[in-house]
Amino acid sequence: MYVPKSLQTETVKRQLKDTNSYAIVVDKKGVDYNTLLKEVKATLEEKEDRKAIRTVRSTRDGKMPIITDKDQEKEQNTRKTIMENIEEANVRKITNINRNSKTLFIRNLDATTNKEEVKRAIRRELGDRGGIEMKVGEVRPTRNSTQTITIMIDKDNAETLTRKEFVIIGIVKGKIEERVQMQRCYRCWAYGHTVSGCVEEIDRRNTCYKCGKEGHQAGQCNNEAKCPLCEKEGHTAGSSACKMFRTALKEAKRRAETPQNLNCNGANKQNTAHC
Ligand SMILES: [Zn+2]
Ligand SMILES: [Zn+2]
Ligand SMILES: [Zn+2]
Repeated sequence: MYVPKSLQTETVKRQLKDTNSYAIVVDKKGVDYNTLLKEVKATLEEKEDRKAIRTVRSTRDGKMPIITDKDQEKEQNTRKTIMENIEEANVRKITNINRNSKTLFIRNLDATTNKEEVKRAIRRELGDRGGIEMKVGEVRPTRNSTQTITIMIDKDNAETLTRKEFVIIGIVKGKIEERVQMQRCYRCWAYGHTVSGCVEEIDRRNTCYKCGKEGHQAGQCNNEAKCPLCEKEGHTAGSSACKMFRTALKEAKRRAETPQNLNCNGANKQNTAHC
């Protein structure tokens, strides 16, 4: 079998996509590949975690991808050992953020928190020095002068964060939740289906979103809020105060937690590409 000696970082990423491995990429300015390799080897020699290492390669631009088993703890420890022992080494974990990521929602940020603070806080929480790839949305203000933000991060780190529940950002605890996709029909406003699957008799497309009456838009509405879904006053349709909303959210979360492989006649994850 021919194994290409030189790989681009992109190639490493592609290869990781469907394999059961992680990749740590190491490089150090002004140090050639073989010298750096010797340093890395000397650093890891006595370490138990090195047993997770499968191969050490080089990229065309002289960086060093270290392929490890898909063992988060061992991979993290290996990365940490290299960072702590080889001065000025640039060490990062390659993750395929688009393919293998989750979206988290963080609420309860104070009114002045910005994106960079959120990134820093998350890196600190994960013990990361810049190796973890993440996409961070814009901070959004809420009505009570707090802010929320959405972040996209690889599945393993997302799960670590979700388990922690909170991340300290500035002087407050940001609450971490996994974002779940909720279907909602814009014709009847009910949850759990979209307009193409709507079999409800009621059509609310001309209904005011605020008071639930027809003939005007929410922007022109002077009535008190009333939700036509649960017929209660005090909240609008789609509000998190609505019982229908909370039931639908629970259901969406339950569905999100169902292992993917169950959607494919019990086939395991590696074999789901055809589904
Ligand atoms: Zn509907
Ligand atoms: Zn109205
Ligand atoms: Zn309601």
